[in-house]
Amino acid sequence: MSYQHVVLPEQGRKLSVSDDGRLQVPDNPVLGFVEGDGIGPDITRACMRVWDAAVAKAYGGKRRIHWCELYMGEKAAGLYDGDYFPAETLAAMQDLLVAIKGPLTTPVGEGFRSLNVSLRQKLDLYACVRPVRHYEGVPSPMKAPQKVDVVIFRENTEDVYAGIEFASGSEQNGQLSGFLRDTLGANFFDDAGLGVKPISPFASKRLVRKAIEYAIEHNRESVTLVHKGNIMKYTEGAFRTWGYELAREEFPEQTITEDELYAHHGGKVPEGKIVIKDRIADIIFQLMLLRPEEFDVIATMNLNGDYLSDAIAAQVGGIGIAPGANIGDNVAVFEATHGTAPKYAGQDKVNPGSLMLSGVDMLEYIGWKEAADLIRLAYPDVVKAGIVTYDFARQMEGATEVSTSGFGDALIERINNTLDLDEVARQRAERRRRQKEERREREQRRIEAPEEEMVASGRKPTTVGHIMKRSLITVTADTTVDQAMKLMREQGVSSLLMEPGEDGEWGIMTHHDVLSRVVRGNRTSAEATVGDIATRPVIRVSSDASLSDCVEVMMKHSIRRLLVERDGEVVGIASETDLATAVEQFGWVRAE
Ligand code: NAP
Repeated sequence: MSYQHVVLPEQGRKLSVSDDGRLQVPDNPVLGFVEGDGIGPDITRACMRVWDAAVAKAYGGKRRIHWCELYMGEKAAGLYDGDYFPAETLAAMQDLLVAIKGPLTTPVGEGFRSLNVSLRQKLDLYACVRPVRHYEGVPSPMKAPQKVDVVIFRENTEDVYAGIEFASGSEQNGQLSGFLRDTLGANFFDDAGLGVKPISPFASKRLVRKAIEYAIEHNRESVTLVHKGNIMKYTEGAFRTWGYELAREEFPEQTITEDELYAHHGGKVPEGKIVIKDRIADIIFQLMLLRPEEFDVIATMNLNGDYLSDAIAAQVGGIGIAPGANIGDNVAVFEATHGTAPKYAGQDKVNPGSLMLSGVDMLEYIGWKEAADLIRLAYPDVVKAGIVTYDFARQMEGATEVSTSGFGDALIERINNTLDLDEVARQRAERRRRQKEERREREQRRIEAPEEEMVASGRKPTTVGHIMKRSLITVTADTTVDQAMKLMREQGVSSLLMEPGEDGEWGIMTHHDVLSRVVRGNRTSAEATVGDIATRPVIRVSSDASLSDCVEVMMKHSIRRLLVERDGEVVGIASETDLATAVEQFGWVRAE
């Protein structure tokens, strides 16, 4: 392909994609970069020196990035006769597969779309990926910011961001509102501006697929689908349904749902499985503050993802250092997530952190983990030493303020002179060990106190398996009623299970049975046995049975307790009180 202004470095080779969809990266890859507007050139210059230094150190000169400048924004407009997003930039990004870009000015005026939005749409970069974790030393408003370590996959192409909007008073608005009122019976205030929120199975599933693939590749613990499906059933609720459907259909060996985790595995994650769960969008903001360690990979729609990624980034140091990328099926464009901060343009002043860490993710994406880790290790060391740009300096006591390039120099000095590769490997192993230990601790809590964990982690029970009592207090049929009553008092329960006889059926003895069959039946409690007065058989339900189905069974048979079974084995007992307690704790929503 021949270009007008883009010059492909002669020594470099382009990346490619193999038949099985894997990215093939040579040791001399050509990667694209767009320096961006405003502060873009300052941060891009500093970052490229750091990325190159890390690659040189990690691979002793065996690997090297060959940078290819691509043009967007004001620099492009100067070169391409006023065109802010030239066709050849688009073509080169498709050709090179991986690029990184600084911030771009959105030209002001009618008819201009945000360049970032155009880029995502034209290259079909449907997943906005925002990894958010804390680096030691970075100022944060959280008490324990190190607990935040999530990667947000935000759907980029749909939702109210799709641009299907009709202004109040416009002709199209009139047509649409007429149709909505007259044909569909919708009701809303006159002159309302109208926006459409398309959420499709196609876009939802490809986004969730990317999130699950990422979780598998990076050995993450869970993928959480974030939605507001309790209110917007056919858009946000459908996203949730399609997400679970995709996991079930395409990753049956690698995933289990949170429901299955509790109902079939008692809270213990089976080896090699990723837990698929979901949370309501408003609750996730609270949970990310109170229990951030429970969230790992998040998949959500455009608007939720927009709010959520900035809010979580603020927990660990703000969007000034938050990395990001927009990724499609083959093409990936990494980017600084802040804007062009025009008042600082050309002053060599601002924080290069956002672009720097996006580059680290880019190195990881092309499989150059050692180089990525060198920067990840050097970065907190430099910040902890108080060598920071103006924005951090104003939040840290006793810091030494340095320029953008000065910060880059400090990182390079740390990478070249003090870090060694054994230390990088050691730290990586240590991080993995810590993650494993934390997972084990969480698992232990789930196993020991599943109900408490469920409430605290914002999860609602949906099946009887979630609310049943797991400990079964059992006696044999020949136990006397006196002995049985004593055991009930000691255990603080109002019923006991009678172990199955030859027919395999369980029985149950309750306080009610004692009153009706011993007192009213005129018997002696020291002589009567559990076998004499217990009710049997006890009706069984599957642990997957819904709470409302259980209520139906209880009402139909006029009983107050059910045995819960899984794969033919009795695993718990659920009482009317357990069901009512769940309603009290979590509320009950009328079914459609
Ligand atoms: P902005 O450029 O992000 O700047 C807002 C403020 O954030 C700055 O004044 C500065 O705060 C702080 N800031 C941003 N980047 C920083 C950095 N690297 N280091 C330290 N502080 C940093 O947002 P804006 O002023 O709303 O937008 C300006 C232009 O950028 C607009 O044309 C907008 O369209 C564009 N934009 C582009 C992108 C993108 O390309 N991805 C994203 C957002 C906005 P202080 O003033 O407190 O020092």
